Amino acid sequence: MSDSSMGTLYVVATPIGNLEDLSPRAARVLGEVALIAAEDTRHSGRLLRHLGLSVPMLSLHEHNEAARVAQLDARLAGGDSIALISDAGTPLISDPGFVLVRELRARGRRIVPVPGPCALVAALSAAGLPTDRFLFQGFLPAKGGGRRGRLEALAGHEETLVFYESPHRIRDTLADLGTCLGDRRLVLARELTKTFETFLDGTAAELLERLATDPDQARGEFVIMVAGAAPRDDGDTAAVDADALLGAMLAEGVGVKQVAAVAARVLGGAKKTWYARALVLKERSQP
Ligand code: SAM
Repeated sequence: MSDSSMGTLYVVATPIGNLEDLSPRAARVLGEVALIAAEDTRHSGRLLRHLGLSVPMLSLHEHNEAARVAQLDARLAGGDSIALISDAGTPLISDPGFVLVRELRARGRRIVPVPGPCALVAALSAAGLPTDRFLFQGFLPAKGGGRRGRLEALAGHEETLVFYESPHRIRDTLADLGTCLGDRRLVLARELTKTFETFLDGTAAELLERLATDPDQARGEFVIMVAGAAPRDDGDTAAVDADALLGAMLAEGVGVKQVAAVAARVLGGAKKTWYARALVLKERSQP
């Protein structure tokens, strides 16, 4: 049980590029806590200087997180409040903090999120891929074999797939996406909230071509989003090629809404899902 004399751990989201994205609440909390646990104190020191703050900092990263739990727990027990921040975005999202939060919650400490920037949410919000269901996979394995194995395991998922990727591996990952998931629509969100923010759209092969002709597009930070698999047929309809059926209707001039309604009735599944799929096919068929 929490008691009011104990401190609070605030899990504070910080900008992913644009400092204006730091919320007034986040700035206030960072100024009010006794201690800031930061992934990289030098990096976060720049943010604190920008805010005119000189709050004591302590490093908390994947190699010392478990060892920090007792120390931070004692500070909270003594009444100090602490903010947890990472280098960018929301802590715990492909960033340190999970072990700390799990352990402090198990000890009954008060943990309060201060929400804000998160690259995957920013990317999805502007990509134009279905967001009703998505599967965030963080970083794919660094080695080709592991990466392709993971992608093959994801090939049947109908949800939009979301990955983080670094500039060192963006080309290899796009190539593997093409090999394992085929000709699906991808959206590559680069340098979100920064000067060179770009959204590129196309199949993996088209995006690789784009990166080859304009190498600047391979620089910076990336969120890769991939259209989910076409909805599965079941039972009697297993022999029907759903994409071919939808494509044929679209080619005959049937509207996306009607295509979705017919597909849901004939093949089963949600109209909304078929609508999203028909939209992808329609866009793909346009020159
Ligand atoms: N905690 C962060 C969040 O809330 O998004 C993610 C941290 S993770 C270590 C870093 C990765 O997030 C980058 O390699 C990139 O894939 C993605 N990312 C972070 N900032 C980004 C940005 N401004 N534009 C695109 N992707 C970004």
